[in-house]
Amino acid sequence: MSSPGLVVALSGGIGGAKLVLGLSRVLPPEDLLVVANTGDDFEHLGLSISPDIDTVAYTLSGLANPELGWGRRDETWSFMETLGALGGETWFRLGDRDLALHVERTRRLRAGDSLTAITADVCARLGIACRVVPMSDDPVRTRVRSETGWIDFQDYFVRQQCAPVVRELAFAGAEAARPQPALMAALSDPRLAAVVICPSNPFISVEPILAIPGVRAALLACAAPVIGVSPIIGGRAVKGPTAKMLAELGLEVSAASVAWRYGDLLDGYIVDHADADAPAQGPRVFAAETLMTTLADREALARAVLDAAATLRE
Ligand code: GDP
Repeated sequence: MSSPGLVVALSGGIGGAKLVLGLSRVLPPEDLLVVANTGDDFEHLGLSISPDIDTVAYTLSGLANPELGWGRRDETWSFMETLGALGGETWFRLGDRDLALHVERTRRLRAGDSLTAITADVCARLGIACRVVPMSDDPVRTRVRSETGWIDFQDYFVRQQCAPVVRELAFAGAEAARPQPALMAALSDPRLAAVVICPSNPFISVEPILAIPGVRAALLACAAPVIGVSPIIGGRAVKGPTAKMLAELGLEVSAASVAWRYGDLLDGYIVDHADADAPAQGPRVFAAETLMTTLADREALARAVLDAAATLRE
């Protein structure tokens, strides 16, 4: 497998993991560093849950649940059913197999291991060859302000099914969080060929990563091109609340809006062919097939991203 060099991918959950899977299939494993958002992390039923890390890990290992888009395939729900029968909280669903990961991560965090070390060990056990790291080992918690005040992210996202109107987002703990050392090392590595901002929700998947002190500056300073991929196709989100949030925050629901949101960070921006005639301001725009339905789609988009980066490096 020929490699352009080291590639860093900033990822949320579902949309990000799709492109990460594509990248993992066109790059040698040692040349892919996946940095996962941990702003969605929370403590629930006494467990430490890291939804985006897990979606990336399950996707890369072929264990992701294709129907749900989160959690594990071939899942059973005895724990949840029993918890419900006991009158426990069931609004956040945890499958029996998935549960094992949360129990083990919680045990190790309590024993003093870092989220980075735990994630590396879990990924190795799942047979994942590339590196997957959390954006920080320090807790960062996304919070959402709606008409009724501030609420925790999973309350908004899962319990209330994204129904509240979002007025503002905050990333509690971000200002004190230390950036992932592997990310900072990669951004100054002379072998760095590209940074990919995956087609994830900009507000709740990418901006928590950018909120960690030093990350945005290091991205601006890095010698390699930073390439974003639009999560909006033809004015609509493929999945999740990205379009709803854009509208609620007073922004146009468009691919261009997401690029605008990232400001001067992007050198290149991949949009769908459906959006290719949008006025190009800011980063250099490349059109590609960005809807990832099949594995071949994921690989093709990964190649398109690497081609765009190569063009920008020329
Ligand atoms: P979450 O953390 O699970 O919400 O996942 P992400 O933030 O990584 O992904 C959510 C975003 O992925 C949404 O804005 C979707 O529009 C986008 N998305 C999902 N599938 C695709 C796809 O096939 N292509 C593109 N371009 N975006 C996608």
